Amino acid sequence: MAEINVNKHLDSTVFKAVRAVADQEGVETYVIGGYVRDILLGKPSKDIDIVVRGSGIDMAEKVAAKLGKLKVSVFRNFGTAMFKFRDEEVEFVGARKESYQRNSRKPIVEDGTIEDDQNRRDFTINALAISLNKNTFGQLVDPFNGEEDLDNGVIRTPLDPDITFSDDPLRMMRAIRFATRFNFRIEDQTLEGIKNNKERIGIVSGERIVDELNKMMMAERPSVGFKLLEITGLLNIIMPELQQLKGVEEKGGRKHKDNFYHTLAVLDRIVPNTDDVWLRWAAIFHDIAKPATKRYDEKLGWTFHGHNHLGQKMIPRIFKRMKFPLNEKMKFVQKMVYLHMRPIVLSEDIVTDSAVRRLLFDAGDDIDSLMTLCEADITSKNEDKVKRFMKNFKIVRRKLKEIEEKDRVRNFQPPVSGEDIMEAFGIGPCREIGDIKTAIKDAILDGDIENEREQAYGLMLKLGKEKGLVLK
Ligand code: ATP
Ligand code: MG
Repeated sequence: MAEINVNKHLDSTVFKAVRAVADQEGVETYVIGGYVRDILLGKPSKDIDIVVRGSGIDMAEKVAAKLGKLKVSVFRNFGTAMFKFRDEEVEFVGARKESYQRNSRKPIVEDGTIEDDQNRRDFTINALAISLNKNTFGQLVDPFNGEEDLDNGVIRTPLDPDITFSDDPLRMMRAIRFATRFNFRIEDQTLEGIKNNKERIGIVSGERIVDELNKMMMAERPSVGFKLLEITGLLNIIMPELQQLKGVEEKGGRKHKDNFYHTLAVLDRIVPNTDDVWLRWAAIFHDIAKPATKRYDEKLGWTFHGHNHLGQKMIPRIFKRMKFPLNEKMKFVQKMVYLHMRPIVLSEDIVTDSAVRRLLFDAGDDIDSLMTLCEADITSKNEDKVKRFMKNFKIVRRKLKEIEEKDRVRNFQPPVSGEDIMEAFGIGPCREIGDIKTAIKDAILDGDIENEREQAYGLMLKLGKEKGLVLK
């Protein structure tokens, strides 16, 4: 039995109450799974899973009563119950044995022992249990050497991986997510098991897959996960568009870069600069249309003309199929993909005020996100080149700030409205109104007039006259 210093964690108010009820009722009780794993990793979580030899629901109700009449949510169908205490979520379940059918992730469940319950867990590091009963208090129950795997950083299924993954293919995603989050290695047989069962991912709902991917995305180096998805063959099933970025073609002695690894480098580079999972997704998708737009030109070499435009158009299809949300988050990703080259082009040239104003106008409130994406997109190995870009981006950022302070085009509100124009010339809705408004907007963005009413109104009068309109 390993000696672990867990008592500190098992001495909290919640655990004291659980222990008291366990002893008073004489029920075998353990804390199990992710919570145990995380305290052994020195990163305690707020999700506590308790397993009892008997009724989890009974136990939950008694502990909740002891803690002061907490509201217990009971899920009779699953035989589980949970409550919240301060910032902790405590879930209770009776120890169970599970068996699976071919076409569903839902097992047939019967009462079982703690050992049965550990057998149904996905990985050795997630099957650890600690006794909460008086005589055995604090003892680690570790039938599969999970503690050793935790020390060595290994993801391994407790039973035959082919059975574990075929029973519940979501576990393949979980394996990759844990490997990514903890920077662990997936043990060889376990990795083989994922490869063998990759097609089984088909019975997992898109929402579940996205949920795992989003968790993976929040790791320090999410590229690890995408590489594992690729190696195992899962990527080609769940995100074939990303798989197609992989590979290098050579013509006339010229190669283009491998856009899969470039994309992953961009992703890892953006991570320290944003916690926004959608900006991280934008990094993954920014070059998604490169395979579809790739051409070879004798003079120019490899080109990917319009890949930002096509990429933006591909996003809704991908999001729909994968069951990502089809809301403003998707629109944000589309916008990032569409605009991702603009600051680079800008920084390669002399940075003119009007180009900066146009960028501000198009990016609006997402301008900072766009700059962050662009900076991450510089993955060249040529240090001088990287330095030059970074320096130019600094200039762009400074100019963005200066011009926004002066001209406020970030959330552009036309200083002269359609009503103003109708009123001035005594006309109803017509095409000229749109034309005048666009001309005023362009004049502001080009710096011909300032973003203020008097100058805009003056221009409106002039344009109206040119169009043959007569003042009222
Ligand atoms: P985290 O909460 O950090 O995402 P976790 O391992 O705690 O990770 P949960 O979904 O909270 O994940 O599940 C708690 C425990 O339940 C796991 O540690 C594992 O023992 C078990 N478990 C969860 N999902 C599965 C599954 N699909 N197959 C087998 N066991 C599972
Ligand atoms: Mg958990």
